[in-house]
Amino acid sequence: MRLYNQIFEAIKESETVIIHRHKNPDPDALGSQGGLAEILKASFPTKKVLKAGGPVGDLNYLTEMDDVPDEAYQEALVIVTDTANTPRISDERYSQGKILIKMDHHPNDDDYGDITVVNTKASSSSEIIADFCFHYKNELIMTTKAAELLYAGIVGDTGRFLYPATTSKTMRIVADLMEFPFKPDEINRKMTAMSRKVAQLSGYVLQNIDIHASGVGKVILTKAIMEQFGVKDAETSAIVSLPSTLEEVVLWGIFVEQPDGRFRCRLRSKGPIINEVAKKHDGGGHPLASGANAKDLLEVNQIIQQLIQVAEQS
Ligand code: AMP
Repeated sequence: MRLYNQIFEAIKESETVIIHRHKNPDPDALGSQGGLAEILKASFPTKKVLKAGGPVGDLNYLTEMDDVPDEAYQEALVIVTDTANTPRISDERYSQGKILIKMDHHPNDDDYGDITVVNTKASSSSEIIADFCFHYKNELIMTTKAAELLYAGIVGDTGRFLYPATTSKTMRIVADLMEFPFKPDEINRKMTAMSRKVAQLSGYVLQNIDIHASGVGKVILTKAIMEQFGVKDAETSAIVSLPSTLEEVVLWGIFVEQPDGRFRCRLRSKGPIINEVAKKHDGGGHPLASGANAKDLLEVNQIIQQLIQVAEQS
């Protein structure tokens, strides 16, 4: 709790707090960023609390970014949530504040920040922010909007409580958040709703997944396929977990071709550790949910071969 106290002191001493998160935000990035912003605004009405980062796309029903002028960073406390390494922080001005704090649940491969709270046992960064707020329950105010955002972040990163990172502590925190009068069913519906084109792409993924005898599943979504279904890279988050429903699949990769011909590699596993493979290919992430970048199909196939080795050794 020493680190929580240091963060709490830094917050109390700062007139301006700017909160960042990672690029291509998911519900946990926005939930932890937006949830913390709501808590701090309610708890310290005279402080300037700002959310920094690029566009949030279709997730704008969760939270939106503020216009943060450069001058705001002078003397500011900057808190980055849910972001393992500095190149992935959205808005490079994160380093221009007076103090930098990292609050995250990914493996701490890049130990940036003056104060770092990393709990890889937490299901999500939203769980950490909720835990932090409840720890100072006499001084920090949880609002209904904050509870909704943090709930959304936890639901997002646990795959609706399916993934192994879901613990009894996660459920206790979720229960406390659900004491607030937001509508979990409404937010769940928004988070699971998919467009018809993404539903059709889901069919393609299940029909075309290539499954190796080791249990490694491979799906390649070329530019042509993405165009055929009219789907953008950001929308592939809805289909990443689909292969987990196939009983013979142990771990898998969904490789999404980018406009420049590179492939975004979205890697997932039911048990064998895959983030070491991701790290070898300009990526990283959690042991069972990682991302990487491949410059071409040759590198995609190298990644597949390395994943097969992981599956066969497990
Ligand atoms: P994604 O498939 O993009 O949802 O990523 C899954 C996980 O891997 C996320 O928790 C990310 O933090 C991590 N990740 C994705 N891409 C990268 C990358 N290029 N470098 C490091 N970590 C990544």
